Amino acid sequence: MTTVRVRIAPSPTGNLHIGTARTAVFNWLYARHKNGKFILRIEDTDQARSRQEYTENIKSGLEWLGLNWDEGPFFQTQRLDKYQAAIQILLDRGLAYPCYCTPEELDQMREAQKANGLAPRYDNRHRNLTGQEKADFVAAGRKPVIRFKIDDDREIIWQDAVRGRVVWKGSDLGGDMVIARAGETDDIGQPLYNLAVVVDDMDMDINYVIRGEDHIANTAKQILLYEALGAEVPVFAHTPLILNESGRKLSKRDGVTSIDDFRKMGFLPGALANYMALLGWTPPDSTEEIFTLAQAAKQFELERVNKAGAKFDWAKLDWINSQYLHKLPVEELVELLIPYWQDAGYPVDLDSDRSWLESLTAMIAPSLNRLSDGVAEAKFFFSESVTHTAEAIDFLKQDGVNDILTGVITALNEAETFEVTDAKAIIKQVTKSLKVKKGLVMRSLRAGLTGEMHGPDLIQSWLLLHQKGWDKLRLEKALTLING
Ligand code: GLU
Repeated sequence: MTTVRVRIAPSPTGNLHIGTARTAVFNWLYARHKNGKFILRIEDTDQARSRQEYTENIKSGLEWLGLNWDEGPFFQTQRLDKYQAAIQILLDRGLAYPCYCTPEELDQMREAQKANGLAPRYDNRHRNLTGQEKADFVAAGRKPVIRFKIDDDREIIWQDAVRGRVVWKGSDLGGDMVIARAGETDDIGQPLYNLAVVVDDMDMDINYVIRGEDHIANTAKQILLYEALGAEVPVFAHTPLILNESGRKLSKRDGVTSIDDFRKMGFLPGALANYMALLGWTPPDSTEEIFTLAQAAKQFELERVNKAGAKFDWAKLDWINSQYLHKLPVEELVELLIPYWQDAGYPVDLDSDRSWLESLTAMIAPSLNRLSDGVAEAKFFFSESVTHTAEAIDFLKQDGVNDILTGVITALNEAETFEVTDAKAIIKQVTKSLKVKKGLVMRSLRAGLTGEMHGPDLIQSWLLLHQKGWDKLRLEKALTLING
């Protein structure tokens, strides 16, 4: 049986993008499902826009997500001779030709087409130049691009593994296509995407091309190139686009698009990869939504990739991430939260505070959807005093609160130990002796200790503040607010 060979072929013109990463997930899943090979190829022929730092970002993003590749990375800039050779074959076979049109001539041609209500396209005007015409252009110093012939009456048909039978008309491909830019000298210039991708996919024995639906028109062109070069056409699978909440293609305007952005927002790699697998793929048991990539790989078939666009659902991603966060051991979670606290400027004392930080982590863990939520959840715990909100001050000024807080302070002064049971005993004692409702005592404590009316578990919060020696200070400050 032939080994399945798939690839991801990002261009290093930006950081690893969610769309590319999702394509990588599908390729990886398919390769693992079929015991095949997943290849990384960096399409860096556009040297003006390609940067080394983006290549590094793509590699580290794939690694972070757990999408290990079996071969590569291969770089197109190191393979230019292979593209030149293929272009020469096409020229020799009469399937490609030099086109000497200037940009101005092409603009005029398109303007004229538009003026006549036609779609702009190259009109194949240099397809059949005579030797003399070519010599004249060369003598005039024109440097040609190389165009590949696309006949208008061709029909390109393929059986897409996701979309079924796709039919594309040659006349809808914009005329003979440029496969190489004009060279500086008489050599063939820089090869373009469609040519390079076909040469590489042939050379790397790629037999499944799984990529975004935005490449469908390229696929039609590429099939013609496979035929022209006498190669077997791979199976194509076009995955649905990722859409924003209003149904348009997810873009930078939607807040985040790069995997780095998601990492910084506090999504865990396993959770993000899990969510991306669901962006356009439905597992056989659609109620099974939490899985590792390795688990998904066991079941991943292209037949279960949807044709319709995949809506990006932040609430679902948050939910999936929360499932992963809640399962993390506290010793691991605290390590992941510390950088967020440090970035927020919280004075985190790593040497002496480890067990206190773990207790804090254990308390806030159930409320976290993203690691970054840990900043707001822990905001009461990194300074001696807090600023009370207007709502908390109003609450504190109610009748009875002064006596409650005074009673708590007195009890605290008398307490020899302070554990959960001691905190509960103090609340009970104050409730009884002042004949007030327990709820009022709890809310008074919360307002006094944290300066707000809502927050994490009260008893646990109190314990943490007590361990720092800040609970009494805050309650005393609350009393001055009441009486000030
Ligand atoms: N470099 C192309 C891209 O990033 C690759 C497309 C393909 O998979 O052929 O979109």
